[in-house]
Amino acid sequence: MLVRLMYASRAVPAVDQEELLAILKKSKANNTRSGITGALCFSEGIFMQVLEGGRSAVNQLYNRIANDPRHSAVVLLAYDEIDERRFAGWSMGQVNMQRLNPALLLKYSECARLDPYAVSGKVSLALFDELVATAAIMGQ
Ligand code: FAD
Repeated sequence: MLVRLMYASRAVPAVDQEELLAILKKSKANNTRSGITGALCFSEGIFMQVLEGGRSAVNQLYNRIANDPRHSAVVLLAYDEIDERRFAGWSMGQVNMQRLNPALLLKYSECARLDPYAVSGKVSLALFDELVATAAIMGQ
């Protein structure tokens, strides 16, 4: 039984590039062990992450992440049972914000800013799909 979960959160001010890299490193190691794949996006203090894998593994990880003091305002954007993964190639890919075309953001929202709090979960997932399609996810 596979599921896909997506959430958004606000990083605490202390989270910088070094902390982001530490989170990604830990995520890759842990997720490989527990069969979880996905991608993490960090922009202007906002995290957005997709997690895919077995239902209980994903649920346990989400609970752990939601209690992490490095972010707050964790909001569940989407949770679905799925037949196949979209992020099978990434234990935890990182969205390359340099390759994020502002036109792509405008396609899905009122202004060219990444703000998952202002759009539906469906829209955020569609945006992630396009990031995969345009090779904007690193760390395979
Ligand atoms: P350890 O790394 O040994 O940590 C033990 C405890 O210390 C945990 O409670 C941990 O939350 C806390 N801790 C560790 N480092 C810090 C720190 N720098 N500041 C404050 N507390 C800290 N983990 C994954 O496994 N996979 C993911 O995909 C993933 N995505 C994440 C996305 C975001 C936005 C954030 C903020 C965290 C993410 N994490 C992820 C980290 C997760 O919240 C846990 O910290 C991690 O899974 C714990 O790993 P561990 O059990 O090996 O414990």
